[in-house]
Amino acid sequence: MRRLGLLGGMSWESSSLYYTLLNQEVRDRLGGMHSARCVMASVDFAEVEELQRAGDWDRAGELLAAEARALEAAGAELLVLCTNTMHRVAPAIEQACGIPLLHLGDVTAAAVLAAGLDTVTLLGTAFTMEQAFYRDRIASQGLTVRVPEADDRATVHRVIYDELVRGVVREESRRAVRDVMGRELAAGAQGVVLGCTELELLVGADDVPAPVFPTTRLHVLAAVEASLSGP
Ligand code: GLU
Repeated sequence: MRRLGLLGGMSWESSSLYYTLLNQEVRDRLGGMHSARCVMASVDFAEVEELQRAGDWDRAGELLAAEARALEAAGAELLVLCTNTMHRVAPAIEQACGIPLLHLGDVTAAAVLAAGLDTVTLLGTAFTMEQAFYRDRIASQGLTVRVPEADDRATVHRVIYDELVRGVVREESRRAVRDVMGRELAAGAQGVVLGCTELELLVGADDVPAPVFPTTRLHVLAAVEASLSGP
């Protein structure tokens, strides 16, 4: 089993889910008392969020690259960056360390293709929905990636930063995000990418009559597969 390096804390609410799902998946596959071989670096999300807001992606990239190098030094063989948004600095991280990064955009695109869809809507932070780094990574696999209208993007972004990363899950917000997904399906999306690792703490397959792609769960499944099948 290759040792996974989890670069988390963005936020710890979803890193906690990563850790739980990872161990459950290894146990389900190997049985008995098996659990995941992994090391985790967990950052102070307040620092990262400040850099995001300031648009200081260079500094954010340096910060996460240093954490990735620490994971490598701790014996990690495959890097799992436990956030969609911070894939904005994936190139800086990849350049700084000698172990491969399991890119969440690639994992998500593979799942959408496997489901036979060609058009999905992407829900996540404003950075993920409005910048090109994540959308284009998925689109490069021949998929069409929609994002919600401006008001709906603002709603999803607000729910993530004001509630989910703080451990707050509200029924009213679940309804609001459900409505956003409904409007996107009506506008032509065939499925919904939950492109923020906290969104699946709020909504899931039961909330919308179409395939849903929960990125935390998909990332974990791909990481376990790579860990168990790798050299
Ligand atoms: N975890 C979230 C994501 O997947 C948002 C927090 C962050 O900005 O890293 O994008």
